[in-house]
Amino acid sequence: MSGYHSPQVDVPVRLNTNESPFPPPTDWVKSIGAIAESIDWNRYPDRAATELCEAIARRHGVAPEQVFVANGSNEVIQTILLAYGGHGRIVATFEPTYQMYAQIAHVTGAEVVEGERRADLTLDPIEIERVVARHQPAVTFLCNPNNPTGLVEPRENLEALLEVASGIVVVDEAYAEFSDWSAMELVSEDKPIAVTRTFSKTLSMAALRVGYVVGPTWLINDLRIAALPYHLDSFKQAATIAALQYTKEMEERVEFIKAQRARLEAEMRSLDLEVWTSGSNFVLFRSSAHDAKTLWSAVLAQGVLVRDCSSWPRLEGCLRVTVGTESENTAFLAALRASLPA
Ligand SMILES: *Cc1c(COP(=O)(O)O)cnc(C)c1O
Repeated sequence: MSGYHSPQVDVPVRLNTNESPFPPPTDWVKSIGAIAESIDWNRYPDRAATELCEAIARRHGVAPEQVFVANGSNEVIQTILLAYGGHGRIVATFEPTYQMYAQIAHVTGAEVVEGERRADLTLDPIEIERVVARHQPAVTFLCNPNNPTGLVEPRENLEALLEVASGIVVVDEAYAEFSDWSAMELVSEDKPIAVTRTFSKTLSMAALRVGYVVGPTWLINDLRIAALPYHLDSFKQAATIAALQYTKEMEERVEFIKAQRARLEAEMRSLDLEVWTSGSNFVLFRSSAHDAKTLWSAVLAQGVLVRDCSSWPRLEGCLRVTVGTESENTAFLAALRASLPA
């Protein structure tokens, strides 16, 4: 196997990994020292992260027993696949989608089956039914909105999937705050659905490494069995509880990002680029007139790093740009304009 890589280049404008362009709220950053001093460092953490689960449960109007927290939503996905993947089990994805599903599934020894999307990268519910009926996956992943396309998954697709599901349905909502609907409201004790969220994108805390999943109690209990004891350190639990006081403030930034996203989409379309309408904080695009690698290098030469997806299966010619600050987006658009043939 080979690893998962997200190449980093040291340039002034980094629009390649879908982080928030803003730092977390200043008051939270200032409280970090006091939080660190309040920790009983000689003691193991609260293994169940009780208070943190309660705080997250309040945010979504669910029970604390329906919440499992881990070190980033990638670790949530890993824990789900440790519990429900593994040798002899099948994991289904609909490509192109977030590459970690297949990567982690393979690491656990599971077999991955890839459903296909239409040419415009939307997903046909008939394909969902075909994949599930044929392969009976133990775990099926839907990413809403989907990374790397940015497309919002229609609610009907998830309903179709839940109708036929043979195992666990994981809806990865790393970008939910930028979208117009969330699967969170579908979570209930009698449905095999788990919805994952992260502090890394909207909440400006990629460095903290916190993500969580909301699902039925029996599923959450399975994850607690698969997770390592004390996987979530005391400082992180306390710092995350403190961060949750600022979610309103951080969600306000979502409106700004959405406005900038509309600006990017409109200006890129006016440059004759093919642009996928995004429900996220990034935009997938393609030039029919220009080779993707050449375009990526030309934009990089002007100090702007975007993600080159052109070598990924089904994404020939595609690049992906994260929505940045107003000035970063201006720099990107200027670099793009200068790099396209007249
Ligand atoms: C960024 C991303 C994640 C990873 O989030 P962490 O919480 O930082 O591990 C998960 N899923 C998708 C689709 C992402 O784009």
